[in-house]
Amino acid sequence: MKDLLRKIRGTGRVAEPAPARPEGASAGRAREFGGSVQVRHVDAGSCNGCEVEIASAFGPVYDAERYGARLVASPRHADALLVTGPVTRNMRMALRRTYEAVPEPKVVVAVGDCACDCGVFAEAYGVVGAVGDVVPVDVEVPGCPPPPDAITAALRGLTGR
Ligand code: SF4
Repeated sequence: MKDLLRKIRGTGRVAEPAPARPEGASAGRAREFGGSVQVRHVDAGSCNGCEVEIASAFGPVYDAERYGARLVASPRHADALLVTGPVTRNMRMALRRTYEAVPEPKVVVAVGDCACDCGVFAEAYGVVGAVGDVVPVDVEVPGCPPPPDAITAALRGLTGR
């Protein structure tokens, strides 16, 4: 146990130094959420590439939690939905119901090219459309996949930190 504590103390801080607050941070929305935003992630049909980057955004290096963004397990506890992938037929109703379960005020963040405009899956037989075709989207994070710092920057726009 002592060895472990020594190692923790010796390792110190591993997160990247905090970059300046991103330009264009949505001050109005940030005021609504009071500096923190609870986030429910929904995979509406992603290839899982965007999930890897979201995991990094909340990992120890990018550490989105230090800016007030936190992943939660239920839409009823959430302020924001972080949606990845094009919306597949099987996920259309689930995404709609998840959106309706989030209390007001709420925002939807579309993460990745597929979520923004169907990306490489455009016109695929199982795809009904982009996230914006099923629920209103407030913030788009383009990229295939978007890097963790872009995801973190979008969340910082919501928390204002
Ligand atoms: S944007 Fe790229 S990484 Fe993300 S779900 Fe689509 S294909 Fe996968």
